[in-house]
Amino acid sequence: MKKILLLPGDGIGPEVIAQAKKVLEHLRAEHGLNIELEEALIGGAAYDDCKDPLPQTTLALAKQSDAVLLGAVGGPKYESIERELRPEKGLLRIRAELDLFANLRPAILYPSLAEASSLKPELVADLDIMIVRELTGGIYFGEPRGIRTSSDGIKQGFNTLVYDENEISRIAHVAFRIAQKRSGKLCSVDKANVLEVSELWRDVVEAVHTEYKNVSLSHMYVDNAAMQLVREPNQFDVVLTGNLFGDILSDAAAMLTGSIGMLPSASLDSQDKGMYEPIHGSAPDIAGKNLANPLATILSIAMMLRFSLNEIELAKKVEDAVKRTIEKGLRTADIAAGEQAIGTNEMGDAVIKAL
Ligand code: NAD
Repeated sequence: MKKILLLPGDGIGPEVIAQAKKVLEHLRAEHGLNIELEEALIGGAAYDDCKDPLPQTTLALAKQSDAVLLGAVGGPKYESIERELRPEKGLLRIRAELDLFANLRPAILYPSLAEASSLKPELVADLDIMIVRELTGGIYFGEPRGIRTSSDGIKQGFNTLVYDENEISRIAHVAFRIAQKRSGKLCSVDKANVLEVSELWRDVVEAVHTEYKNVSLSHMYVDNAAMQLVREPNQFDVVLTGNLFGDILSDAAAMLTGSIGMLPSASLDSQDKGMYEPIHGSAPDIAGKNLANPLATILSIAMMLRFSLNEIELAKKVEDAVKRTIEKGLRTADIAAGEQAIGTNEMGDAVIKAL
């Protein structure tokens, strides 16, 4: 029996997690998935409850689980509270506490949604990129950091970009293993022409490459990678990069596929225990209106089945059910492009019907 913790969070989080829960319950009842589901608070919802965006009880449950499924956190209501207590801090903390250093973000284009892409359909046809982003290091965590005032009274903000060779090596191994299972092509993205950190990054990735001779490795500067991603995205298969560059490039890649509401993600530790979440945020503009697209969250279940629960066949079933639902013409408002749209609940039901 595998334990799965559901963390709905804020905004549209509870709405999309409700659909995911229905799908998981269906898989348990009809497809033999042996799971136990629990639910806990995170983000703004947890702050409202106990003034902590990651309560000890939630963290303890997450540590005991085999996998965690998160909706989204944050919202305008929490923007003025102290930085340490903001919902997003809860998310950064749980990633760090569970040592989820490998963030996997696929950008896949469903042929029937090609028109929703911001690029010409012929440029994004069959797009299937996997971005592997380092998640617990780099400039988002580096110390020292802060805002200080110099002796002449000028305010200065500062952060530290730091990676050690072990952090680079373990994320590189993850990326090479994934590349082996796909087309055997890996592109490592850095800024080695300017940053010493990137120089080390390149050396370590090259060293790890000697253990994966059947993968072809290339390197690209991040500014060029951003350009190539919108010029000719199909040249990429697996992309390996650090926390900051990965944050930006994976959002750009997401847009190539048409909707942020379609893309799942996985964050894994060294034992493939993971937290799975849609890449979108809490979308306060549409929260509580049955408008959110739940497919990114449902596709996150497929990633969970594949990477943490070793249920490859069920993962394919879920992905296939989503594909067939889209092919039938069913659309939430974000991907409707003028067509008739259905709501969050109805989309969840449609996927279960397709399953
Ligand atoms: P967002 O992803 O919440 O929304 C961006 C736009 O995409 C909005 O117009 C929204 O309506 C739309 N959108 C997002 N998800 C959708 C879905 N499933 N279906 C249909 N439309 C969808 O990003 P934002 O507006 O920059 O941030 C809102 C809040 O979310 C902020 O508080 C931010 O900090 C937080 N956030 C959280 C996460 C997370 O929990 N992982 C990630 C990003 C942002």
